[in-house]
Amino acid sequence: MIALRGLTKEFPGGVRALDGLDLEIADGEFFALLGPSGCGKTTLLRTIAGLETPTSGNIWIGGTEVTSVPPGKRDVAMVFQDYALFPHMDVTANIAYPLRIRKVPRARREARAAETASRLSLSELLTRRPAQLSGGQQQRVALARAVACHPRAFLFDEPLSNLDARLRLEARTFLKRLQRELAVTTVFVTHDQGEALALADRIAVMSAGRFTQVGTPTEVFQRPANTFTAAFIGSTPMNLLPGTAGNGALRVAGAVLPLPGGIPDGPIVYGVRPEYMDLSPTPRADAFAGKVAVVENLGTAHLVTLESGEHLIQTVVPEGAEPSPGTAAWAVPRPGRALVYRDDRLVFPC
Ligand code: ATP
Repeated sequence: MIALRGLTKEFPGGVRALDGLDLEIADGEFFALLGPSGCGKTTLLRTIAGLETPTSGNIWIGGTEVTSVPPGKRDVAMVFQDYALFPHMDVTANIAYPLRIRKVPRARREARAAETASRLSLSELLTRRPAQLSGGQQQRVALARAVACHPRAFLFDEPLSNLDARLRLEARTFLKRLQRELAVTTVFVTHDQGEALALADRIAVMSAGRFTQVGTPTEVFQRPANTFTAAFIGSTPMNLLPGTAGNGALRVAGAVLPLPGGIPDGPIVYGVRPEYMDLSPTPRADAFAGKVAVVENLGTAHLVTLESGEHLIQTVVPEGAEPSPGTAAWAVPRPGRALVYRDDRLVFPC
């Protein structure tokens, strides 16, 4: 288990990279830290690892307080974005390096390195140096080096980001399987929401040094707690439109939509994912009317952008159902798929 209480990190010059974070990560959990560039993900990971000292607050790993324990004594293994392999060492020596530092006898550390290499499909490459390996192989060596130490936790800082798109998908599946097999608590930093949704048991969405939401992938995707999370999660951004609740309806961008029970009259923000709207070629009152501005091919579907007054509204339509640019169209939210925010808090569904 990893626990944080009131964790704050201020850098010289007054940048508050972490702002009073509280969190508990369960034993064996695969936990993603997700957020845009500069939100504090790497600082949080480095603070858990002991590479940064918090300005205030406390950290526990496995029930022991480690706030002032040096990195080497925290029993966690960190994998960096650039893998940080030693160029002059072969694969075996790279994997066995942390064991050498811990003075594990040579025979034992080489046996451990060979066994770990086999688990990560690296057995054929043991005598190669990093420069003789592909990006994916280098990434597996970096993982093997972490795995060989049998740490209490893995800390991964964007370990997939140096791989091309296809390899990244393969490496992602591999990483998930490995983490399941080893059942070691893992904290994983990414700015890629798809990666976080696919890999994590739970996700903390971060903005400006704070958690905007902590939840399972289903929770953060289906019920984002605020408009920041709503806009950040999803392969196409959620439509977020200002409107008003009153007289038994929601009025949003020219559409008159059903008013979910329990929402008092007043201003709201209406959220609906592009995937949860259908396009109608004929006018409807419960639809966003617009002109088709852009049609983008997603492969098995099309992303259609409508210009609706001052708003751009996006819908995803199946292959073959895409309208022509310049034509009029009406985007109809599917029943039960809308989210309603007031004062930047989710008020429906709640
Ligand atoms: P990215 O995805 O770009 O790596 P991140 O979410 O990991 O971003 P951090 O690297 O943790 O963000 O940075 C958080 C904030 O702290 C940023 O504003 C950054 O400029 C600042 N920061 C990070 N390291 C330092 C440092 N050593 N000195 C001063 N400011 C720093």
